[in-house]
Amino acid sequence: MQLILHGTGAGIPSAERCASALTATFSNGAVVLFDAGEGAAQAMLRDGVDLSHIITVAISHTHADHWCGLPGLLTALAVAKRKSPLTILAHPTALAFLQQSALHSHLFPERLSFAIEWKPLAPFALPDDWRCLPIPNTHLHQVEALAERAGVCPTAVSFLLEKNGVEAVYLSQDLGSEEDLRGKLKGCSLLVCESAHVNLQAVVEMAELAGVRRVVFTHIPPGLLTVPASTPAVQVIAATDGYSVQVE
Ligand SMILES: [Zn+2]
Repeated sequence: MQLILHGTGAGIPSAERCASALTATFSNGAVVLFDAGEGAAQAMLRDGVDLSHIITVAISHTHADHWCGLPGLLTALAVAKRKSPLTILAHPTALAFLQQSALHSHLFPERLSFAIEWKPLAPFALPDDWRCLPIPNTHLHQVEALAERAGVCPTAVSFLLEKNGVEAVYLSQDLGSEEDLRGKLKGCSLLVCESAHVNLQAVVEMAELAGVRRVVFTHIPPGLLTVPASTPAVQVIAATDGYSVQVE
């Protein structure tokens, strides 16, 4: 499985970094996209991803930097006359909203050359015997009550990718704090961690204790210039757009 970080920026627009978008590409060429921030389609094209190979898009939460590239991606697929179905996974409340965003882009099911399956986030199978487990985190806890009252998405998730219990990768997406990672990293060789809501040093220490061998920081806000040093046990990397890592 090849992971590519197409957008390593945080919520504040940056001239150097695109908004959140990460793909996993499998041995059959299938691509799964995790979050689709602004310009996700363009960022994937820049990094050599064939958009027609995307089979699934999973959205962690509805902050704009994680979803608003979706209508643009769907437009690109429609113009290309895609044939194969596309699955879009999100929180049930977010699904209705994302579906509306497609309709407001005049992407009517009757006129699309491909079917879109809108599904509530739940564990799902990936190629090559991988599977993805959405793990709720506390990123939205401060606004949870307001979100529920407003009828909008009240929950954010991280994604655990695991292969038959022999390999695992943790994609933090946006967190409430590093405490969301506690107890979750066992068996993971790689942690792709956001940088905007966590203590980076604490993340590296937690990763080391859990046996994680590589921490890749992403979702990097403007002005964050340094990440903690690598240790003998953990390689620490500050990703830039297009950063790619192979996981077997
Ligand atoms: Zn967020």
